[in-house]
Amino acid sequence: MNKKIYDLVIIGAGPAGLTAAIFAARYGLNIAVFEKLVPGGQITVTDTIENYPGINDKISGYELANRFKKHAERYDIDFENEEVIKLSKEKSKFLIQLREYNIESYSVIMATGSQPRKLSIPGEEEFIGRGVSFCATCDGPFYKDKNVAVIGGGNTAVEEALYLSEIANSVKLVHKRDKLRAVEVYRKRIEKKGNVDLILESVPIEIIGEDKVKSLKIKSLPKNKKFDVKCDGIFVFIGYLPNKKLVEDIVDLDDKGHVISDDNMSSSCEGLFVAGDLRRKRLRQVITACSDGAIASDSAYRYVSELKGEAYSGWAE
Ligand SMILES: Cc1cc2nc3c(=O)[nH]c(=O)nc-3n(C[C@H](O)[C@H](O)[C@H](O)COP(=O)(O)OP(=O)(O)OC[C@H]3O[C@@H](n4cnc5c(N)ncnc54)[C@H](O)[C@@H]3O)c2cc1C
Repeated sequence: MNKKIYDLVIIGAGPAGLTAAIFAARYGLNIAVFEKLVPGGQITVTDTIENYPGINDKISGYELANRFKKHAERYDIDFENEEVIKLSKEKSKFLIQLREYNIESYSVIMATGSQPRKLSIPGEEEFIGRGVSFCATCDGPFYKDKNVAVIGGGNTAVEEALYLSEIANSVKLVHKRDKLRAVEVYRKRIEKKGNVDLILESVPIEIIGEDKVKSLKIKSLPKNKKFDVKCDGIFVFIGYLPNKKLVEDIVDLDDKGHVISDDNMSSSCEGLFVAGDLRRKRLRQVITACSDGAIASDSAYRYVSELKGEAYSGWAE
């Protein structure tokens, strides 16, 4: 780290954070980006991204994330592979605490995204990494010619079930409603798959195994009947929880823990902006994360310019 106080610190290098970094660097801000894992965020674990405009060919999430990262690396940005463990504000400066040092910044963009929601049923914790997974691209190849269950009925669950159906012998897609919530393009594709069975109006209630998963106990909701499905792997895609811990005491959150912001990505804490899946919004996708990141950077630039008594010379006027 070579700067004592930054104009802007971006926490999280998913699509929102990387886009924010590109825009902020082009405004000439001194920026540091902190990422606790690999840059790219959640898309690094999905096999294909089909709905990002301009990318017509099949592209993996990992490859798209890599392109975002390479683009950001063209600029003078301090990238640090570190987890931010505490964030606080004193007067007009933010204190960003890492494990071994602290830094200061005039503004912050929170782009920490979200993490998978768990089933919270017996056996889940015990078998994570031994049959229970939250990432089809990471763990799918271990289930070649085996039988797997996918839990969930939204776009991510169906997208990942489609991917697994190409590897596994059979896929049971378990969903609590009477029809899938996924968009039509995915619903049509999954219905055509010969090795995917839909188990609708049903919920998983227990994961059973010894050293590895052997079966999933399911409850059919209309009949309240319990039955077991033999499977070697269980993939859980039932939604995501916002990574809000750093800011839960300093900004307003909605009842689900998403940061409430205005159209300019400003939170209730002056100088703290939010972008991507962490924000309260309806559509959580790569394109909306990137859009939030661009707007948040513009707002941070305007804020820092005013704080320093400099003229704003961005795009938004
Ligand atoms: C399996 C799957 C498939 C998907 N498929 C699609 C698709 O086809 N099309 C599409 O548009 N979207 C898809 N999405 C959704 C898309 O991935 C998200 O909307 C998008 O990644 C959100 O970007 P983000 O930058 O807000 O957050 P994230 O991608 O979650 O990135 C947040 C980053 O912040 C880091 N971080 C968190 N806390 C800290 C901390 N304290 N310190 C440092 N770093 C931290 C995390 O490690 C992470 O890298 C998919 C998601 C999943 C899980």
